[in-house]
Amino acid sequence: MTVTRFAPSPNGPLHLGHAYAAIAAHDRARRDGGRFLLRIEDIDGARSRAEFAESTLEDLRWLGLQWDGEAIRQSDRIAAHADALDRLKRERLVYPCRCTRAEIAAAATRTGPDGPVYPGTCRGRHGAVDGPVAWRLDMAEAVYRAGPLVWEDEVHGLQVAAPEAFGDVVLGRKDAPGSYHLAVTLDDAADGISCVTRGMDLFASTHVHRLLQELLGLPVPVWHHHPLLLESDGRKLAKRRGSPSLADMRLAGEDGLALADALRAGRLPDGLHLGVEGEGAGDSLSDADMPI
Ligand code: GLU
Repeated sequence: MTVTRFAPSPNGPLHLGHAYAAIAAHDRARRDGGRFLLRIEDIDGARSRAEFAESTLEDLRWLGLQWDGEAIRQSDRIAAHADALDRLKRERLVYPCRCTRAEIAAAATRTGPDGPVYPGTCRGRHGAVDGPVAWRLDMAEAVYRAGPLVWEDEVHGLQVAAPEAFGDVVLGRKDAPGSYHLAVTLDDAADGISCVTRGMDLFASTHVHRLLQELLGLPVPVWHHHPLLLESDGRKLAKRRGSPSLADMRLAGEDGLALADALRAGRLPDGLHLGVEGEGAGDSLSDADMPI
C-alpha cells in the first residue's frame, strides 16, 4: 500500500509552499487508495513552538486534507533516535565533534548542499566523551562500508547515491540525539512510508538518507520530489519575506478548498511560479542552521 506523509517543522506558520507540499503528499497517497500521514517534526527545542503545530492541523483541515490516524510527534521518537545513534557509535561510524560553526566556516575548503563542508578536524577521535558534543558521520568510511547505492525518484528517475558532497554530516546534535537527517530517515521507516513525497529543496538530502538506510538496515522507499512554489525572483516562499501564512488566509475567511483546487490545477497566485531553487535541507534541522 502507498503510504506518504507531510512532515512540517513547527518553526513558523505554514504558507502556500507548505500547502502545495501537503497536497502533493495527500493526493499521491489517495490516488492509489493509500494512507496519508502527518508528522510534526518538533525536535528542534529552540525553534519548535506548540502554537505552530496546532495551527498546522487547522490549516490542513481548512485545505480539506484529512490525514490518517493521529498526528505523529517526532519528539515522541527521541529514544529511537538515540538508540540508532548508539549503534552507529558502537560501529565507529560517527565521532564526537566540538568544533564551533565559526571554526568550521574558517577551515572549510568547499561548500556542500547544507553549507560549508566540515573539514574533518575531529575525525578519528573515538575516546571518552565529556559534555555536549555533536556526532558526525565518517562519510568516507560509511560510503566504503555501504558500497554503491542507488535510489528511485518517481519523477526524476533512478539516482546513483552521492552523499559525499555533504562531507561528515551531523547525525547527533548537542541538544538532540537525532539531526534532521537521522530523525527523518528513522521516522519514515518507523511510519512505514513507502513514497517519501517532498519538495525539490530536499532532493540532495536523499543521498544521505539512502546511505543511512543502508547503514541501519532500514527499508528503502521510493521518493517523489515535487517542484517548489517560487517568488518572481526565483526564491522559495518564506514567511520572513512576507509570504502570507495559511493561518492569515484562513482567519480572513478565504476558501481553503478552492485554494487547494487552484494549487492542484496549477492556478497560482500572481507572481508565483513552480520551479526548483537551490537544494539543501528544507526548513528544518539543516546542519547549516542548527546549533552544533
Ligand atoms: N521537516 C522538514 C522540513 O520542514 C521536512 C522533512 C522531509 O520532508 O523530509 O523541511
